[in-house]
Amino acid sequence: MAEIKSYDLDGLAGLLDSIGEPRYRAKQVARWLYAHGATCYDEMTDLPAQLRDNLAAKAPLTTPTVKTRRVSALDGTRKYLFRFSDGEAVESVGLPTRDRLTVCFSTQVGCAMGCSFCATGIGGFVRNLTAGEMVDQVRLVGEDFGIRVTNAVAMGQGEPFANYDATLGAVRIMNSSDGLGIGARHLTVSTCGILNGVARLSNEPEQFTLAVSLHSAVQNTRDKLMPGVKGALLPELRNTLEAYATKTGRRPSLEYAMIAGVNDTESELQALMDFASGLLVHVNLIPVNTVAGVGLSRSGPARAREFVSRLATVGVEASIRTERGSDIEAACGQLKQRIEAE
Ligand code: SAH
Ligand code: SF4
Repeated sequence: MAEIKSYDLDGLAGLLDSIGEPRYRAKQVARWLYAHGATCYDEMTDLPAQLRDNLAAKAPLTTPTVKTRRVSALDGTRKYLFRFSDGEAVESVGLPTRDRLTVCFSTQVGCAMGCSFCATGIGGFVRNLTAGEMVDQVRLVGEDFGIRVTNAVAMGQGEPFANYDATLGAVRIMNSSDGLGIGARHLTVSTCGILNGVARLSNEPEQFTLAVSLHSAVQNTRDKLMPGVKGALLPELRNTLEAYATKTGRRPSLEYAMIAGVNDTESELQALMDFASGLLVHVNLIPVNTVAGVGLSRSGPARAREFVSRLATVGVEASIRTERGSDIEAACGQLKQRIEAE
């Protein structure tokens, strides 16, 4: 018996249809689940009682609980550990700025890609999240802040394109006026470079934003850092990004976590300049965040600035991502699925 939140919008319509209900009921149910955050069918007062009972018997409705919540003293970033009905848990992060609230959500419990610098990768893969489990993270963070979520990024735990359908289902609900009403361009999916996922996204009708984690434009270095995408060679990745730009006209960002002595050397910079020049991309440089048990140190700020100015010489725009929530281990790559000591 599938939980109601495992259905995307089309799936909800199909479910309602299969029990002889008109399709508009699906919009009503979606609104109750995501726009209003109903925690049981009885709250859905404009549905006939018989339908509510029928749905309760067919598709259980559960809501994640907040196991832990930490607030950064530095910048107001909040990190949450959400626990789902089966006991599995993921972390999500709320990043407030003056006029925005961005939520970084997880797409899987753990991750199978095994990137050497990432706490999630080190923990291994547990299971995929459903569309509703992703939307609930964003919704509940917004509720906790008491303000509207303006942006959401699939940059928490997990590889979104290893769970493509549920992730797309989730961003569609986030985008929908029956869901969270977040603009498509303000919804970003970040991939370690699963090429058929990039190609599929370019064919979706919505203007969702793409981020690709590059981390090195030298094949050997990238294979060591990101063993899960060894098979996707850099020239193919570059071709895929070119095709994406031609198809969509949109500019993806290339994520690059700078690791001292590993991917910040002169030859690495040169390779990055060669890779990115002529591509419609924006390079995001992130001084690598520390992960317990991983002996990687971050590049200094001067080196990051050097990357920005050298990339500019070949017409590539780059910026240095400001670190958020580092005092509560909420920064990129620091999210773990294990429940911390409570
Ligand atoms: N699996 C997807 C999305 C989740 S990871 C991906 O890899 O793109 C979100 C971002 O955090 C990615 O760009 C990832 O490479 C980056 N990241 C992981 N570990 C990091 C670390 N220790 N320091 C800085 N960024 C890191
Ligand atoms: Fe998975 Fe992304 Fe972490 Fe790599 S960086 S292990 S793909 S979550």
